[in-house]
Amino acid sequence: MPRYAYVNGAYLPHKNAAVHIEDRGFQLADGVYEVIACIHGHLADERGHMDRLERSLAELDMPMPMDRQTMAIIMRELLRRNRTQNANVYIQVTRGAAKRDFPYPSKDLQQSVVMTTWSFNYDNQPKMEKGVKAVTVPDIRWKRRDIKTTALIAQVMAKQKAVEQDAYEAWMVDDDGFVTEGASSNAWIVTKDGTLVTRKATTDILRGVTRTALDAIRQELQIKMEERSFTPQEAYEAEEAFNSSAVALVTPIVEIDGHKIGNGKPGKVTLRLYEEYRAYVDGLRGEQIGWKA
Ligand code: PLP
Repeated sequence: MPRYAYVNGAYLPHKNAAVHIEDRGFQLADGVYEVIACIHGHLADERGHMDRLERSLAELDMPMPMDRQTMAIIMRELLRRNRTQNANVYIQVTRGAAKRDFPYPSKDLQQSVVMTTWSFNYDNQPKMEKGVKAVTVPDIRWKRRDIKTTALIAQVMAKQKAVEQDAYEAWMVDDDGFVTEGASSNAWIVTKDGTLVTRKATTDILRGVTRTALDAIRQELQIKMEERSFTPQEAYEAEEAFNSSAVALVTPIVEIDGHKIGNGKPGKVTLRLYEEYRAYVDGLRGEQIGWKA
């Protein structure tokens, strides 16, 4: 069965799908992206991802390339053509193709829009039972990490370091010695008294859509949360640790830099949040809107 990708108005066989060599996304990383989980045919937190896409674009003086309804239709059509109900949906929007130059070209330039889907089984993941390892690496990124840009080379390098140490995620550490976030996730710890701790969402980190949902869920569950910075040392001594993202959902971390976290097993608070988050994205809490694929 051929796979399809959406590229600038057309559904193309994935193997031939391409953008122009002068595309500013390719040449200058002048673009943004979103990743949305499609779980059992439901696009998880679609509205949150669309809100952030619009915001990332606006921060770079770009409009949405099409209205949300059209984007919603294209995502669903691509999932249908690729015959998948469980997949990661990637959306890349760049400023478009133009003669290579640094400043923004004319406002009339047609933006490039690419969408791809990759099948992914969100159920029965061994990492939920066993947890995963993380390592810390220096955060060498720029200062606008709140924008979800395609300029991901620092994260590429961080993930490579993680893989080389047999770890699943790299937690990045700023120049003052505090954890910012994971290379492709938000970083959380749970203290001995059961308080959730995650970094404040300033320009230092990406405000995860999953992070926002977890904040709402933990309020309902009356779990205390502190939005503040923490060091790798505090994480080593924490009761629990986990990552959150559209793809990782809520992934327990049981070892950081070789230090066992808590009893070395996925923690109770982490697993509770995972269950509640799954109920939320699976639609059991009835809170999501307009998202059936
Ligand atoms: N932080 C970074 C650097 C990320 O790349 C991601 C997701 O890719 C996140 C946080 C989590 O964001 P979300 O929950 O919206 O997927």
